[in-house]
Amino acid sequence: MSFQSRYNQLPEHFYREVTPTPLKNPFLISWNHSLAEEMGLGDTLTAEKAADYFGAMKPLSKTPPIATAYAGHQFGHYVPQLGDGRSILLGEWKNGVGEHWDLHLKGGGRTPYSRSGDGRAVLRSTIREYLCSEAMHHLGIPTTRALCMVGSEEEVHRESIEYGATLLRTAPNHIRFGTFEYFYYRQEYEPLQQLLNHLVKFHFPQLNQVAHTQQALELFKIVVTRTAQLIAQWQLVGFAHGVMNSDNMSILGFTIDYGPYGFLDHYEPGFICNHSDHSGRYAFNQQPEIAQWNMRCLAQALLPLLEEEPEAGAELLREELQNFQTQYQAAYDHGLSAKLGLSFREGDQTLQLQWLQLLESSQADYTRSFRALSDSNKSQLQQEIGNQAGLTTWLSAYHQRLQSEATTTEERAHAMRQVNPKYILRNYLAQQAIEQAEAGDYREIERLLELLHNPYDDQPQFESYAATAPEWSKSLSVSCSS
Ligand code: AMP
Ligand code: MG
Repeated sequence: MSFQSRYNQLPEHFYREVTPTPLKNPFLISWNHSLAEEMGLGDTLTAEKAADYFGAMKPLSKTPPIATAYAGHQFGHYVPQLGDGRSILLGEWKNGVGEHWDLHLKGGGRTPYSRSGDGRAVLRSTIREYLCSEAMHHLGIPTTRALCMVGSEEEVHRESIEYGATLLRTAPNHIRFGTFEYFYYRQEYEPLQQLLNHLVKFHFPQLNQVAHTQQALELFKIVVTRTAQLIAQWQLVGFAHGVMNSDNMSILGFTIDYGPYGFLDHYEPGFICNHSDHSGRYAFNQQPEIAQWNMRCLAQALLPLLEEEPEAGAELLREELQNFQTQYQAAYDHGLSAKLGLSFREGDQTLQLQWLQLLESSQADYTRSFRALSDSNKSQLQQEIGNQAGLTTWLSAYHQRLQSEATTTEERAHAMRQVNPKYILRNYLAQQAIEQAEAGDYREIERLLELLHNPYDDQPQFESYAATAPEWSKSLSVSCSS
C-alpha cells in the first residue's frame, strides 16, 4: 500500500516522526461507508481492518507516521509550542481521480508535542467530533470529516475514568494559521517560505499564475474569503465552535477541531457553548470578530513573506483584513435573506434584524422557527414564537416585502427548505448517543449519522429528532475536557 504523505516531504522541523501507541482491546464502533466510497478506498482500507490500523496501530504502510508542529493564540495569548499532541498523520490516501486525503488519527497516543497530555481522546469527545463533522458536511459547510471511530478498553483519566477511542479524520490538509505562527515567532523565515511553497504547489495551484513575490498576499486573500464565507455559514446555521484559537483555524477555510461546540437551540446571540470560556470570548455572536482577530494573527505571520517593506506590507494586509469584514457581512446578509426566502437587497437588514429580535425576545427555537417560516406554517410559527402581536406585525412587513419577489410561493418554500435545515445535531441528541455508547450500545450513533445525512429533508421516521430540546438538556455543559 502506498500512503505517501506530501507533508512528509517538508524538512524535518515541520514535524516529528512518531509511533502510534496501541489501545487496549480495540474494536470498530462506526465506519462511515459513504465517505469511504467518496474517498474511493475500495478494498484497500475497509471496515474490517479499521480496528487493526486505528486501534492496534498496525502500520498502514512504510510512510512514517508524523506529528506536525504548530503554535497558536489560545484565548488571546500566544503559545509558542502546540503541535499535534494527540493526532498523528498516518499518511495520505490518493485515490483514482487524484484526490488526496490526509489520514489523521486523533487519540493515537503521546507525541513529542503532547506536553503534559496523555495523547488520548475519550469516547464521548470522539463521538461528538464524528457526528458533528458529518452533520456540518451535509449541511454544506466546509469541514474535516471522519472515516471511522474505534473504541477500546483503554482507561483514560479525565474528571473520571473513561475509555479511550480514536477518530480517523480526513481533509486535504491539516495546516492551521498556527503553523505559520510557529515559524514566524521563531523567526525561521526559510521554513515559513517552504510552507507557503508547499501550499501553493499542492493546495492552491492557482497561485502558480501569480508572481512569486505576490503569492503570500494572494494566499491571504483566498483565506480571507474562505474564512469569511465559513463564518457566515456558521452564523446562519447557528453553530458555535467554542474554541476559536488560531491553532484551530484551517488554512483551507474548513471547520476543524471539534471540541465544546454547540448548535443554538433557542436563539441567544451571546450563547457560550464552552463551559471553560468564562469571559465569553468565543460566544456565538463574537465569532465573526474573533475570526478577524485570528486573520490578523495570520497576516502578522505572513509579513516576512511579502516583497514590500514591512510597513507597506502591513498596510496591504490591513486592507485585506477590512475586506474580511465586508465579505463576511455580504455573505451573512445574503444568506439571511435567503433563509427568509428573499433575494437580498439593501434595506432587508431591518426586516432581518426585527425577525432575529423577535426570536431572541421570545426565546424561540432558531432552527424550528426558520423551518416553520419556510413551510409558511402559521400555527407552527405561533407556537414557536410566543410574542403573537410582534409576530403579526413582523409578518405583515414580511408579506409586503414578499410582494416584490419574483418567485412563486412554491418555489420560495422549496428554496427556503434548502437553506433552513430541519435537523441539526442538538447537544442533547449527541449526549443521548454518548450515554448509550458508554453503556455499550452504538446504534444511536448510526441513527444520527443517517438522520444528519439529509438535514434539509423531511424524514418522517425521524420526526422526533426535530423537536425542541428538552428541559433537562439545559443543564448539560461541555468543556475543553476531551
Ligand atoms: P485542542 O483544544 O483540542 O485544539 O488542543 C489544543 C492543544 O492541546 C493541541 O496541541 C492538542 O494536540 C493538545 N492536546 C489536547 N488534548 C491532548 C491530550 N489529551 N494529550 C496531548 N495533547 C493534547
Ligand atoms: Mg486544536
